[in-house]
Amino acid sequence: MKRLVSYVITFALTASAITIGMTYADEQQNLNDINKKINQTKSELKNGKNKEKQLNSQIKQLESQINEAEKEISGIQGDINKTEKNISSVKANLQQVEQEMAQQNESLEKRLRAMYKNGDVGMIQILLGSDDITDFMTNMDMVQRIFDNDVDILKLMEEQHQKIELQKKQLETLQAQLLSEKQKEADKQSALQVSRGEVASLKAQVESDNDALEESLDELNAEADRLVAEIRKLQGNQAFVGGVFAWPSQSSTRVTSEFGYRMHPILKVNKLHTGMDIGAAAGTNVLAANDGTVIKAGWNNSYGNLVMIDHGGGIVTLYAHNSKLLVSTGDVVAKGQAIALVGSTGQSTGPHIHFEVRVNGEYQNPRNWL
Ligand SMILES: [Zn+2]
Repeated sequence: MKRLVSYVITFALTASAITIGMTYADEQQNLNDINKKINQTKSELKNGKNKEKQLNSQIKQLESQINEAEKEISGIQGDINKTEKNISSVKANLQQVEQEMAQQNESLEKRLRAMYKNGDVGMIQILLGSDDITDFMTNMDMVQRIFDNDVDILKLMEEQHQKIELQKKQLETLQAQLLSEKQKEADKQSALQVSRGEVASLKAQVESDNDALEESLDELNAEADRLVAEIRKLQGNQAFVGGVFAWPSQSSTRVTSEFGYRMHPILKVNKLHTGMDIGAAAGTNVLAANDGTVIKAGWNNSYGNLVMIDHGGGIVTLYAHNSKLLVSTGDVVAKGQAIALVGSTGQSTGPHIHFEVRVNGEYQNPRNWL
């Protein structure tokens, strides 16, 4: 893009350098070409700016998605930390219980071994060593309770062990689930970052294209200004086409504001009204006041859609605020030809033709020419 644009500019500058000293019509043609390129570049720039805007909003969206994903990930990270703490405390608990179980088991085995060695005799001797029946019953009850107690301890240990194993399994499942969720979020975030990178590089490309277009537009505008100045110089060489000016409106002779100083209807300051306003219905024809060449047919913020016709001898007429232009820069027009349609574009309060006459750039009262 940049290369193409700079080629076009180089070509335009070279072409205009060659034309120095050439005819008025040639310069006019050059100006036409430059104006065409300006319009083309402007429309490209407009598309580029739109594209830039689109990419900006896309980047904004991706950034908010990334922020969201980062928040989710930090939440999940917190959950994982909590779960990891739970797991290690359960593990410590489990270890302690297992130690206790081992100790209990050892003492139980010791007792059982002792009882086995003594056999029934030992037990019977305990019982037979009883002094009386009450003592016997007490000893019997004691032996029974030794066994009952061991069984209870074993049962309790088994229950505790199962409970801890279950809890451990649950925690492991939870941890695996959190890890997979964390992986999913990380994948999502990296995908978003990739798209953000792609969009950003696209945006940088569009920005650099736009910069190149803006630069070329500046150069083209400067070249157009130079050509206009050249044409103004050459205007003096063209003879006035002659004859009397025609009334610029086909449908109305109503003058709503004369040439001269007046309070500006929009700016509210005392200002020279540089032309004459003819109130006419929107869409009716605006007519060329005399034969000539269109030196400008385009947009101006104050004049709106305007047409400027060069009649030779340094005499130029201007028709402003049109709704539509019917001619292009460089067109040769005849007196009374429709050149535009009445409108209210630019700084205007209603449909009218603002008609100006300039001689060597000086504003004239159009009344003196009509
Ligand atoms: Zn006016």
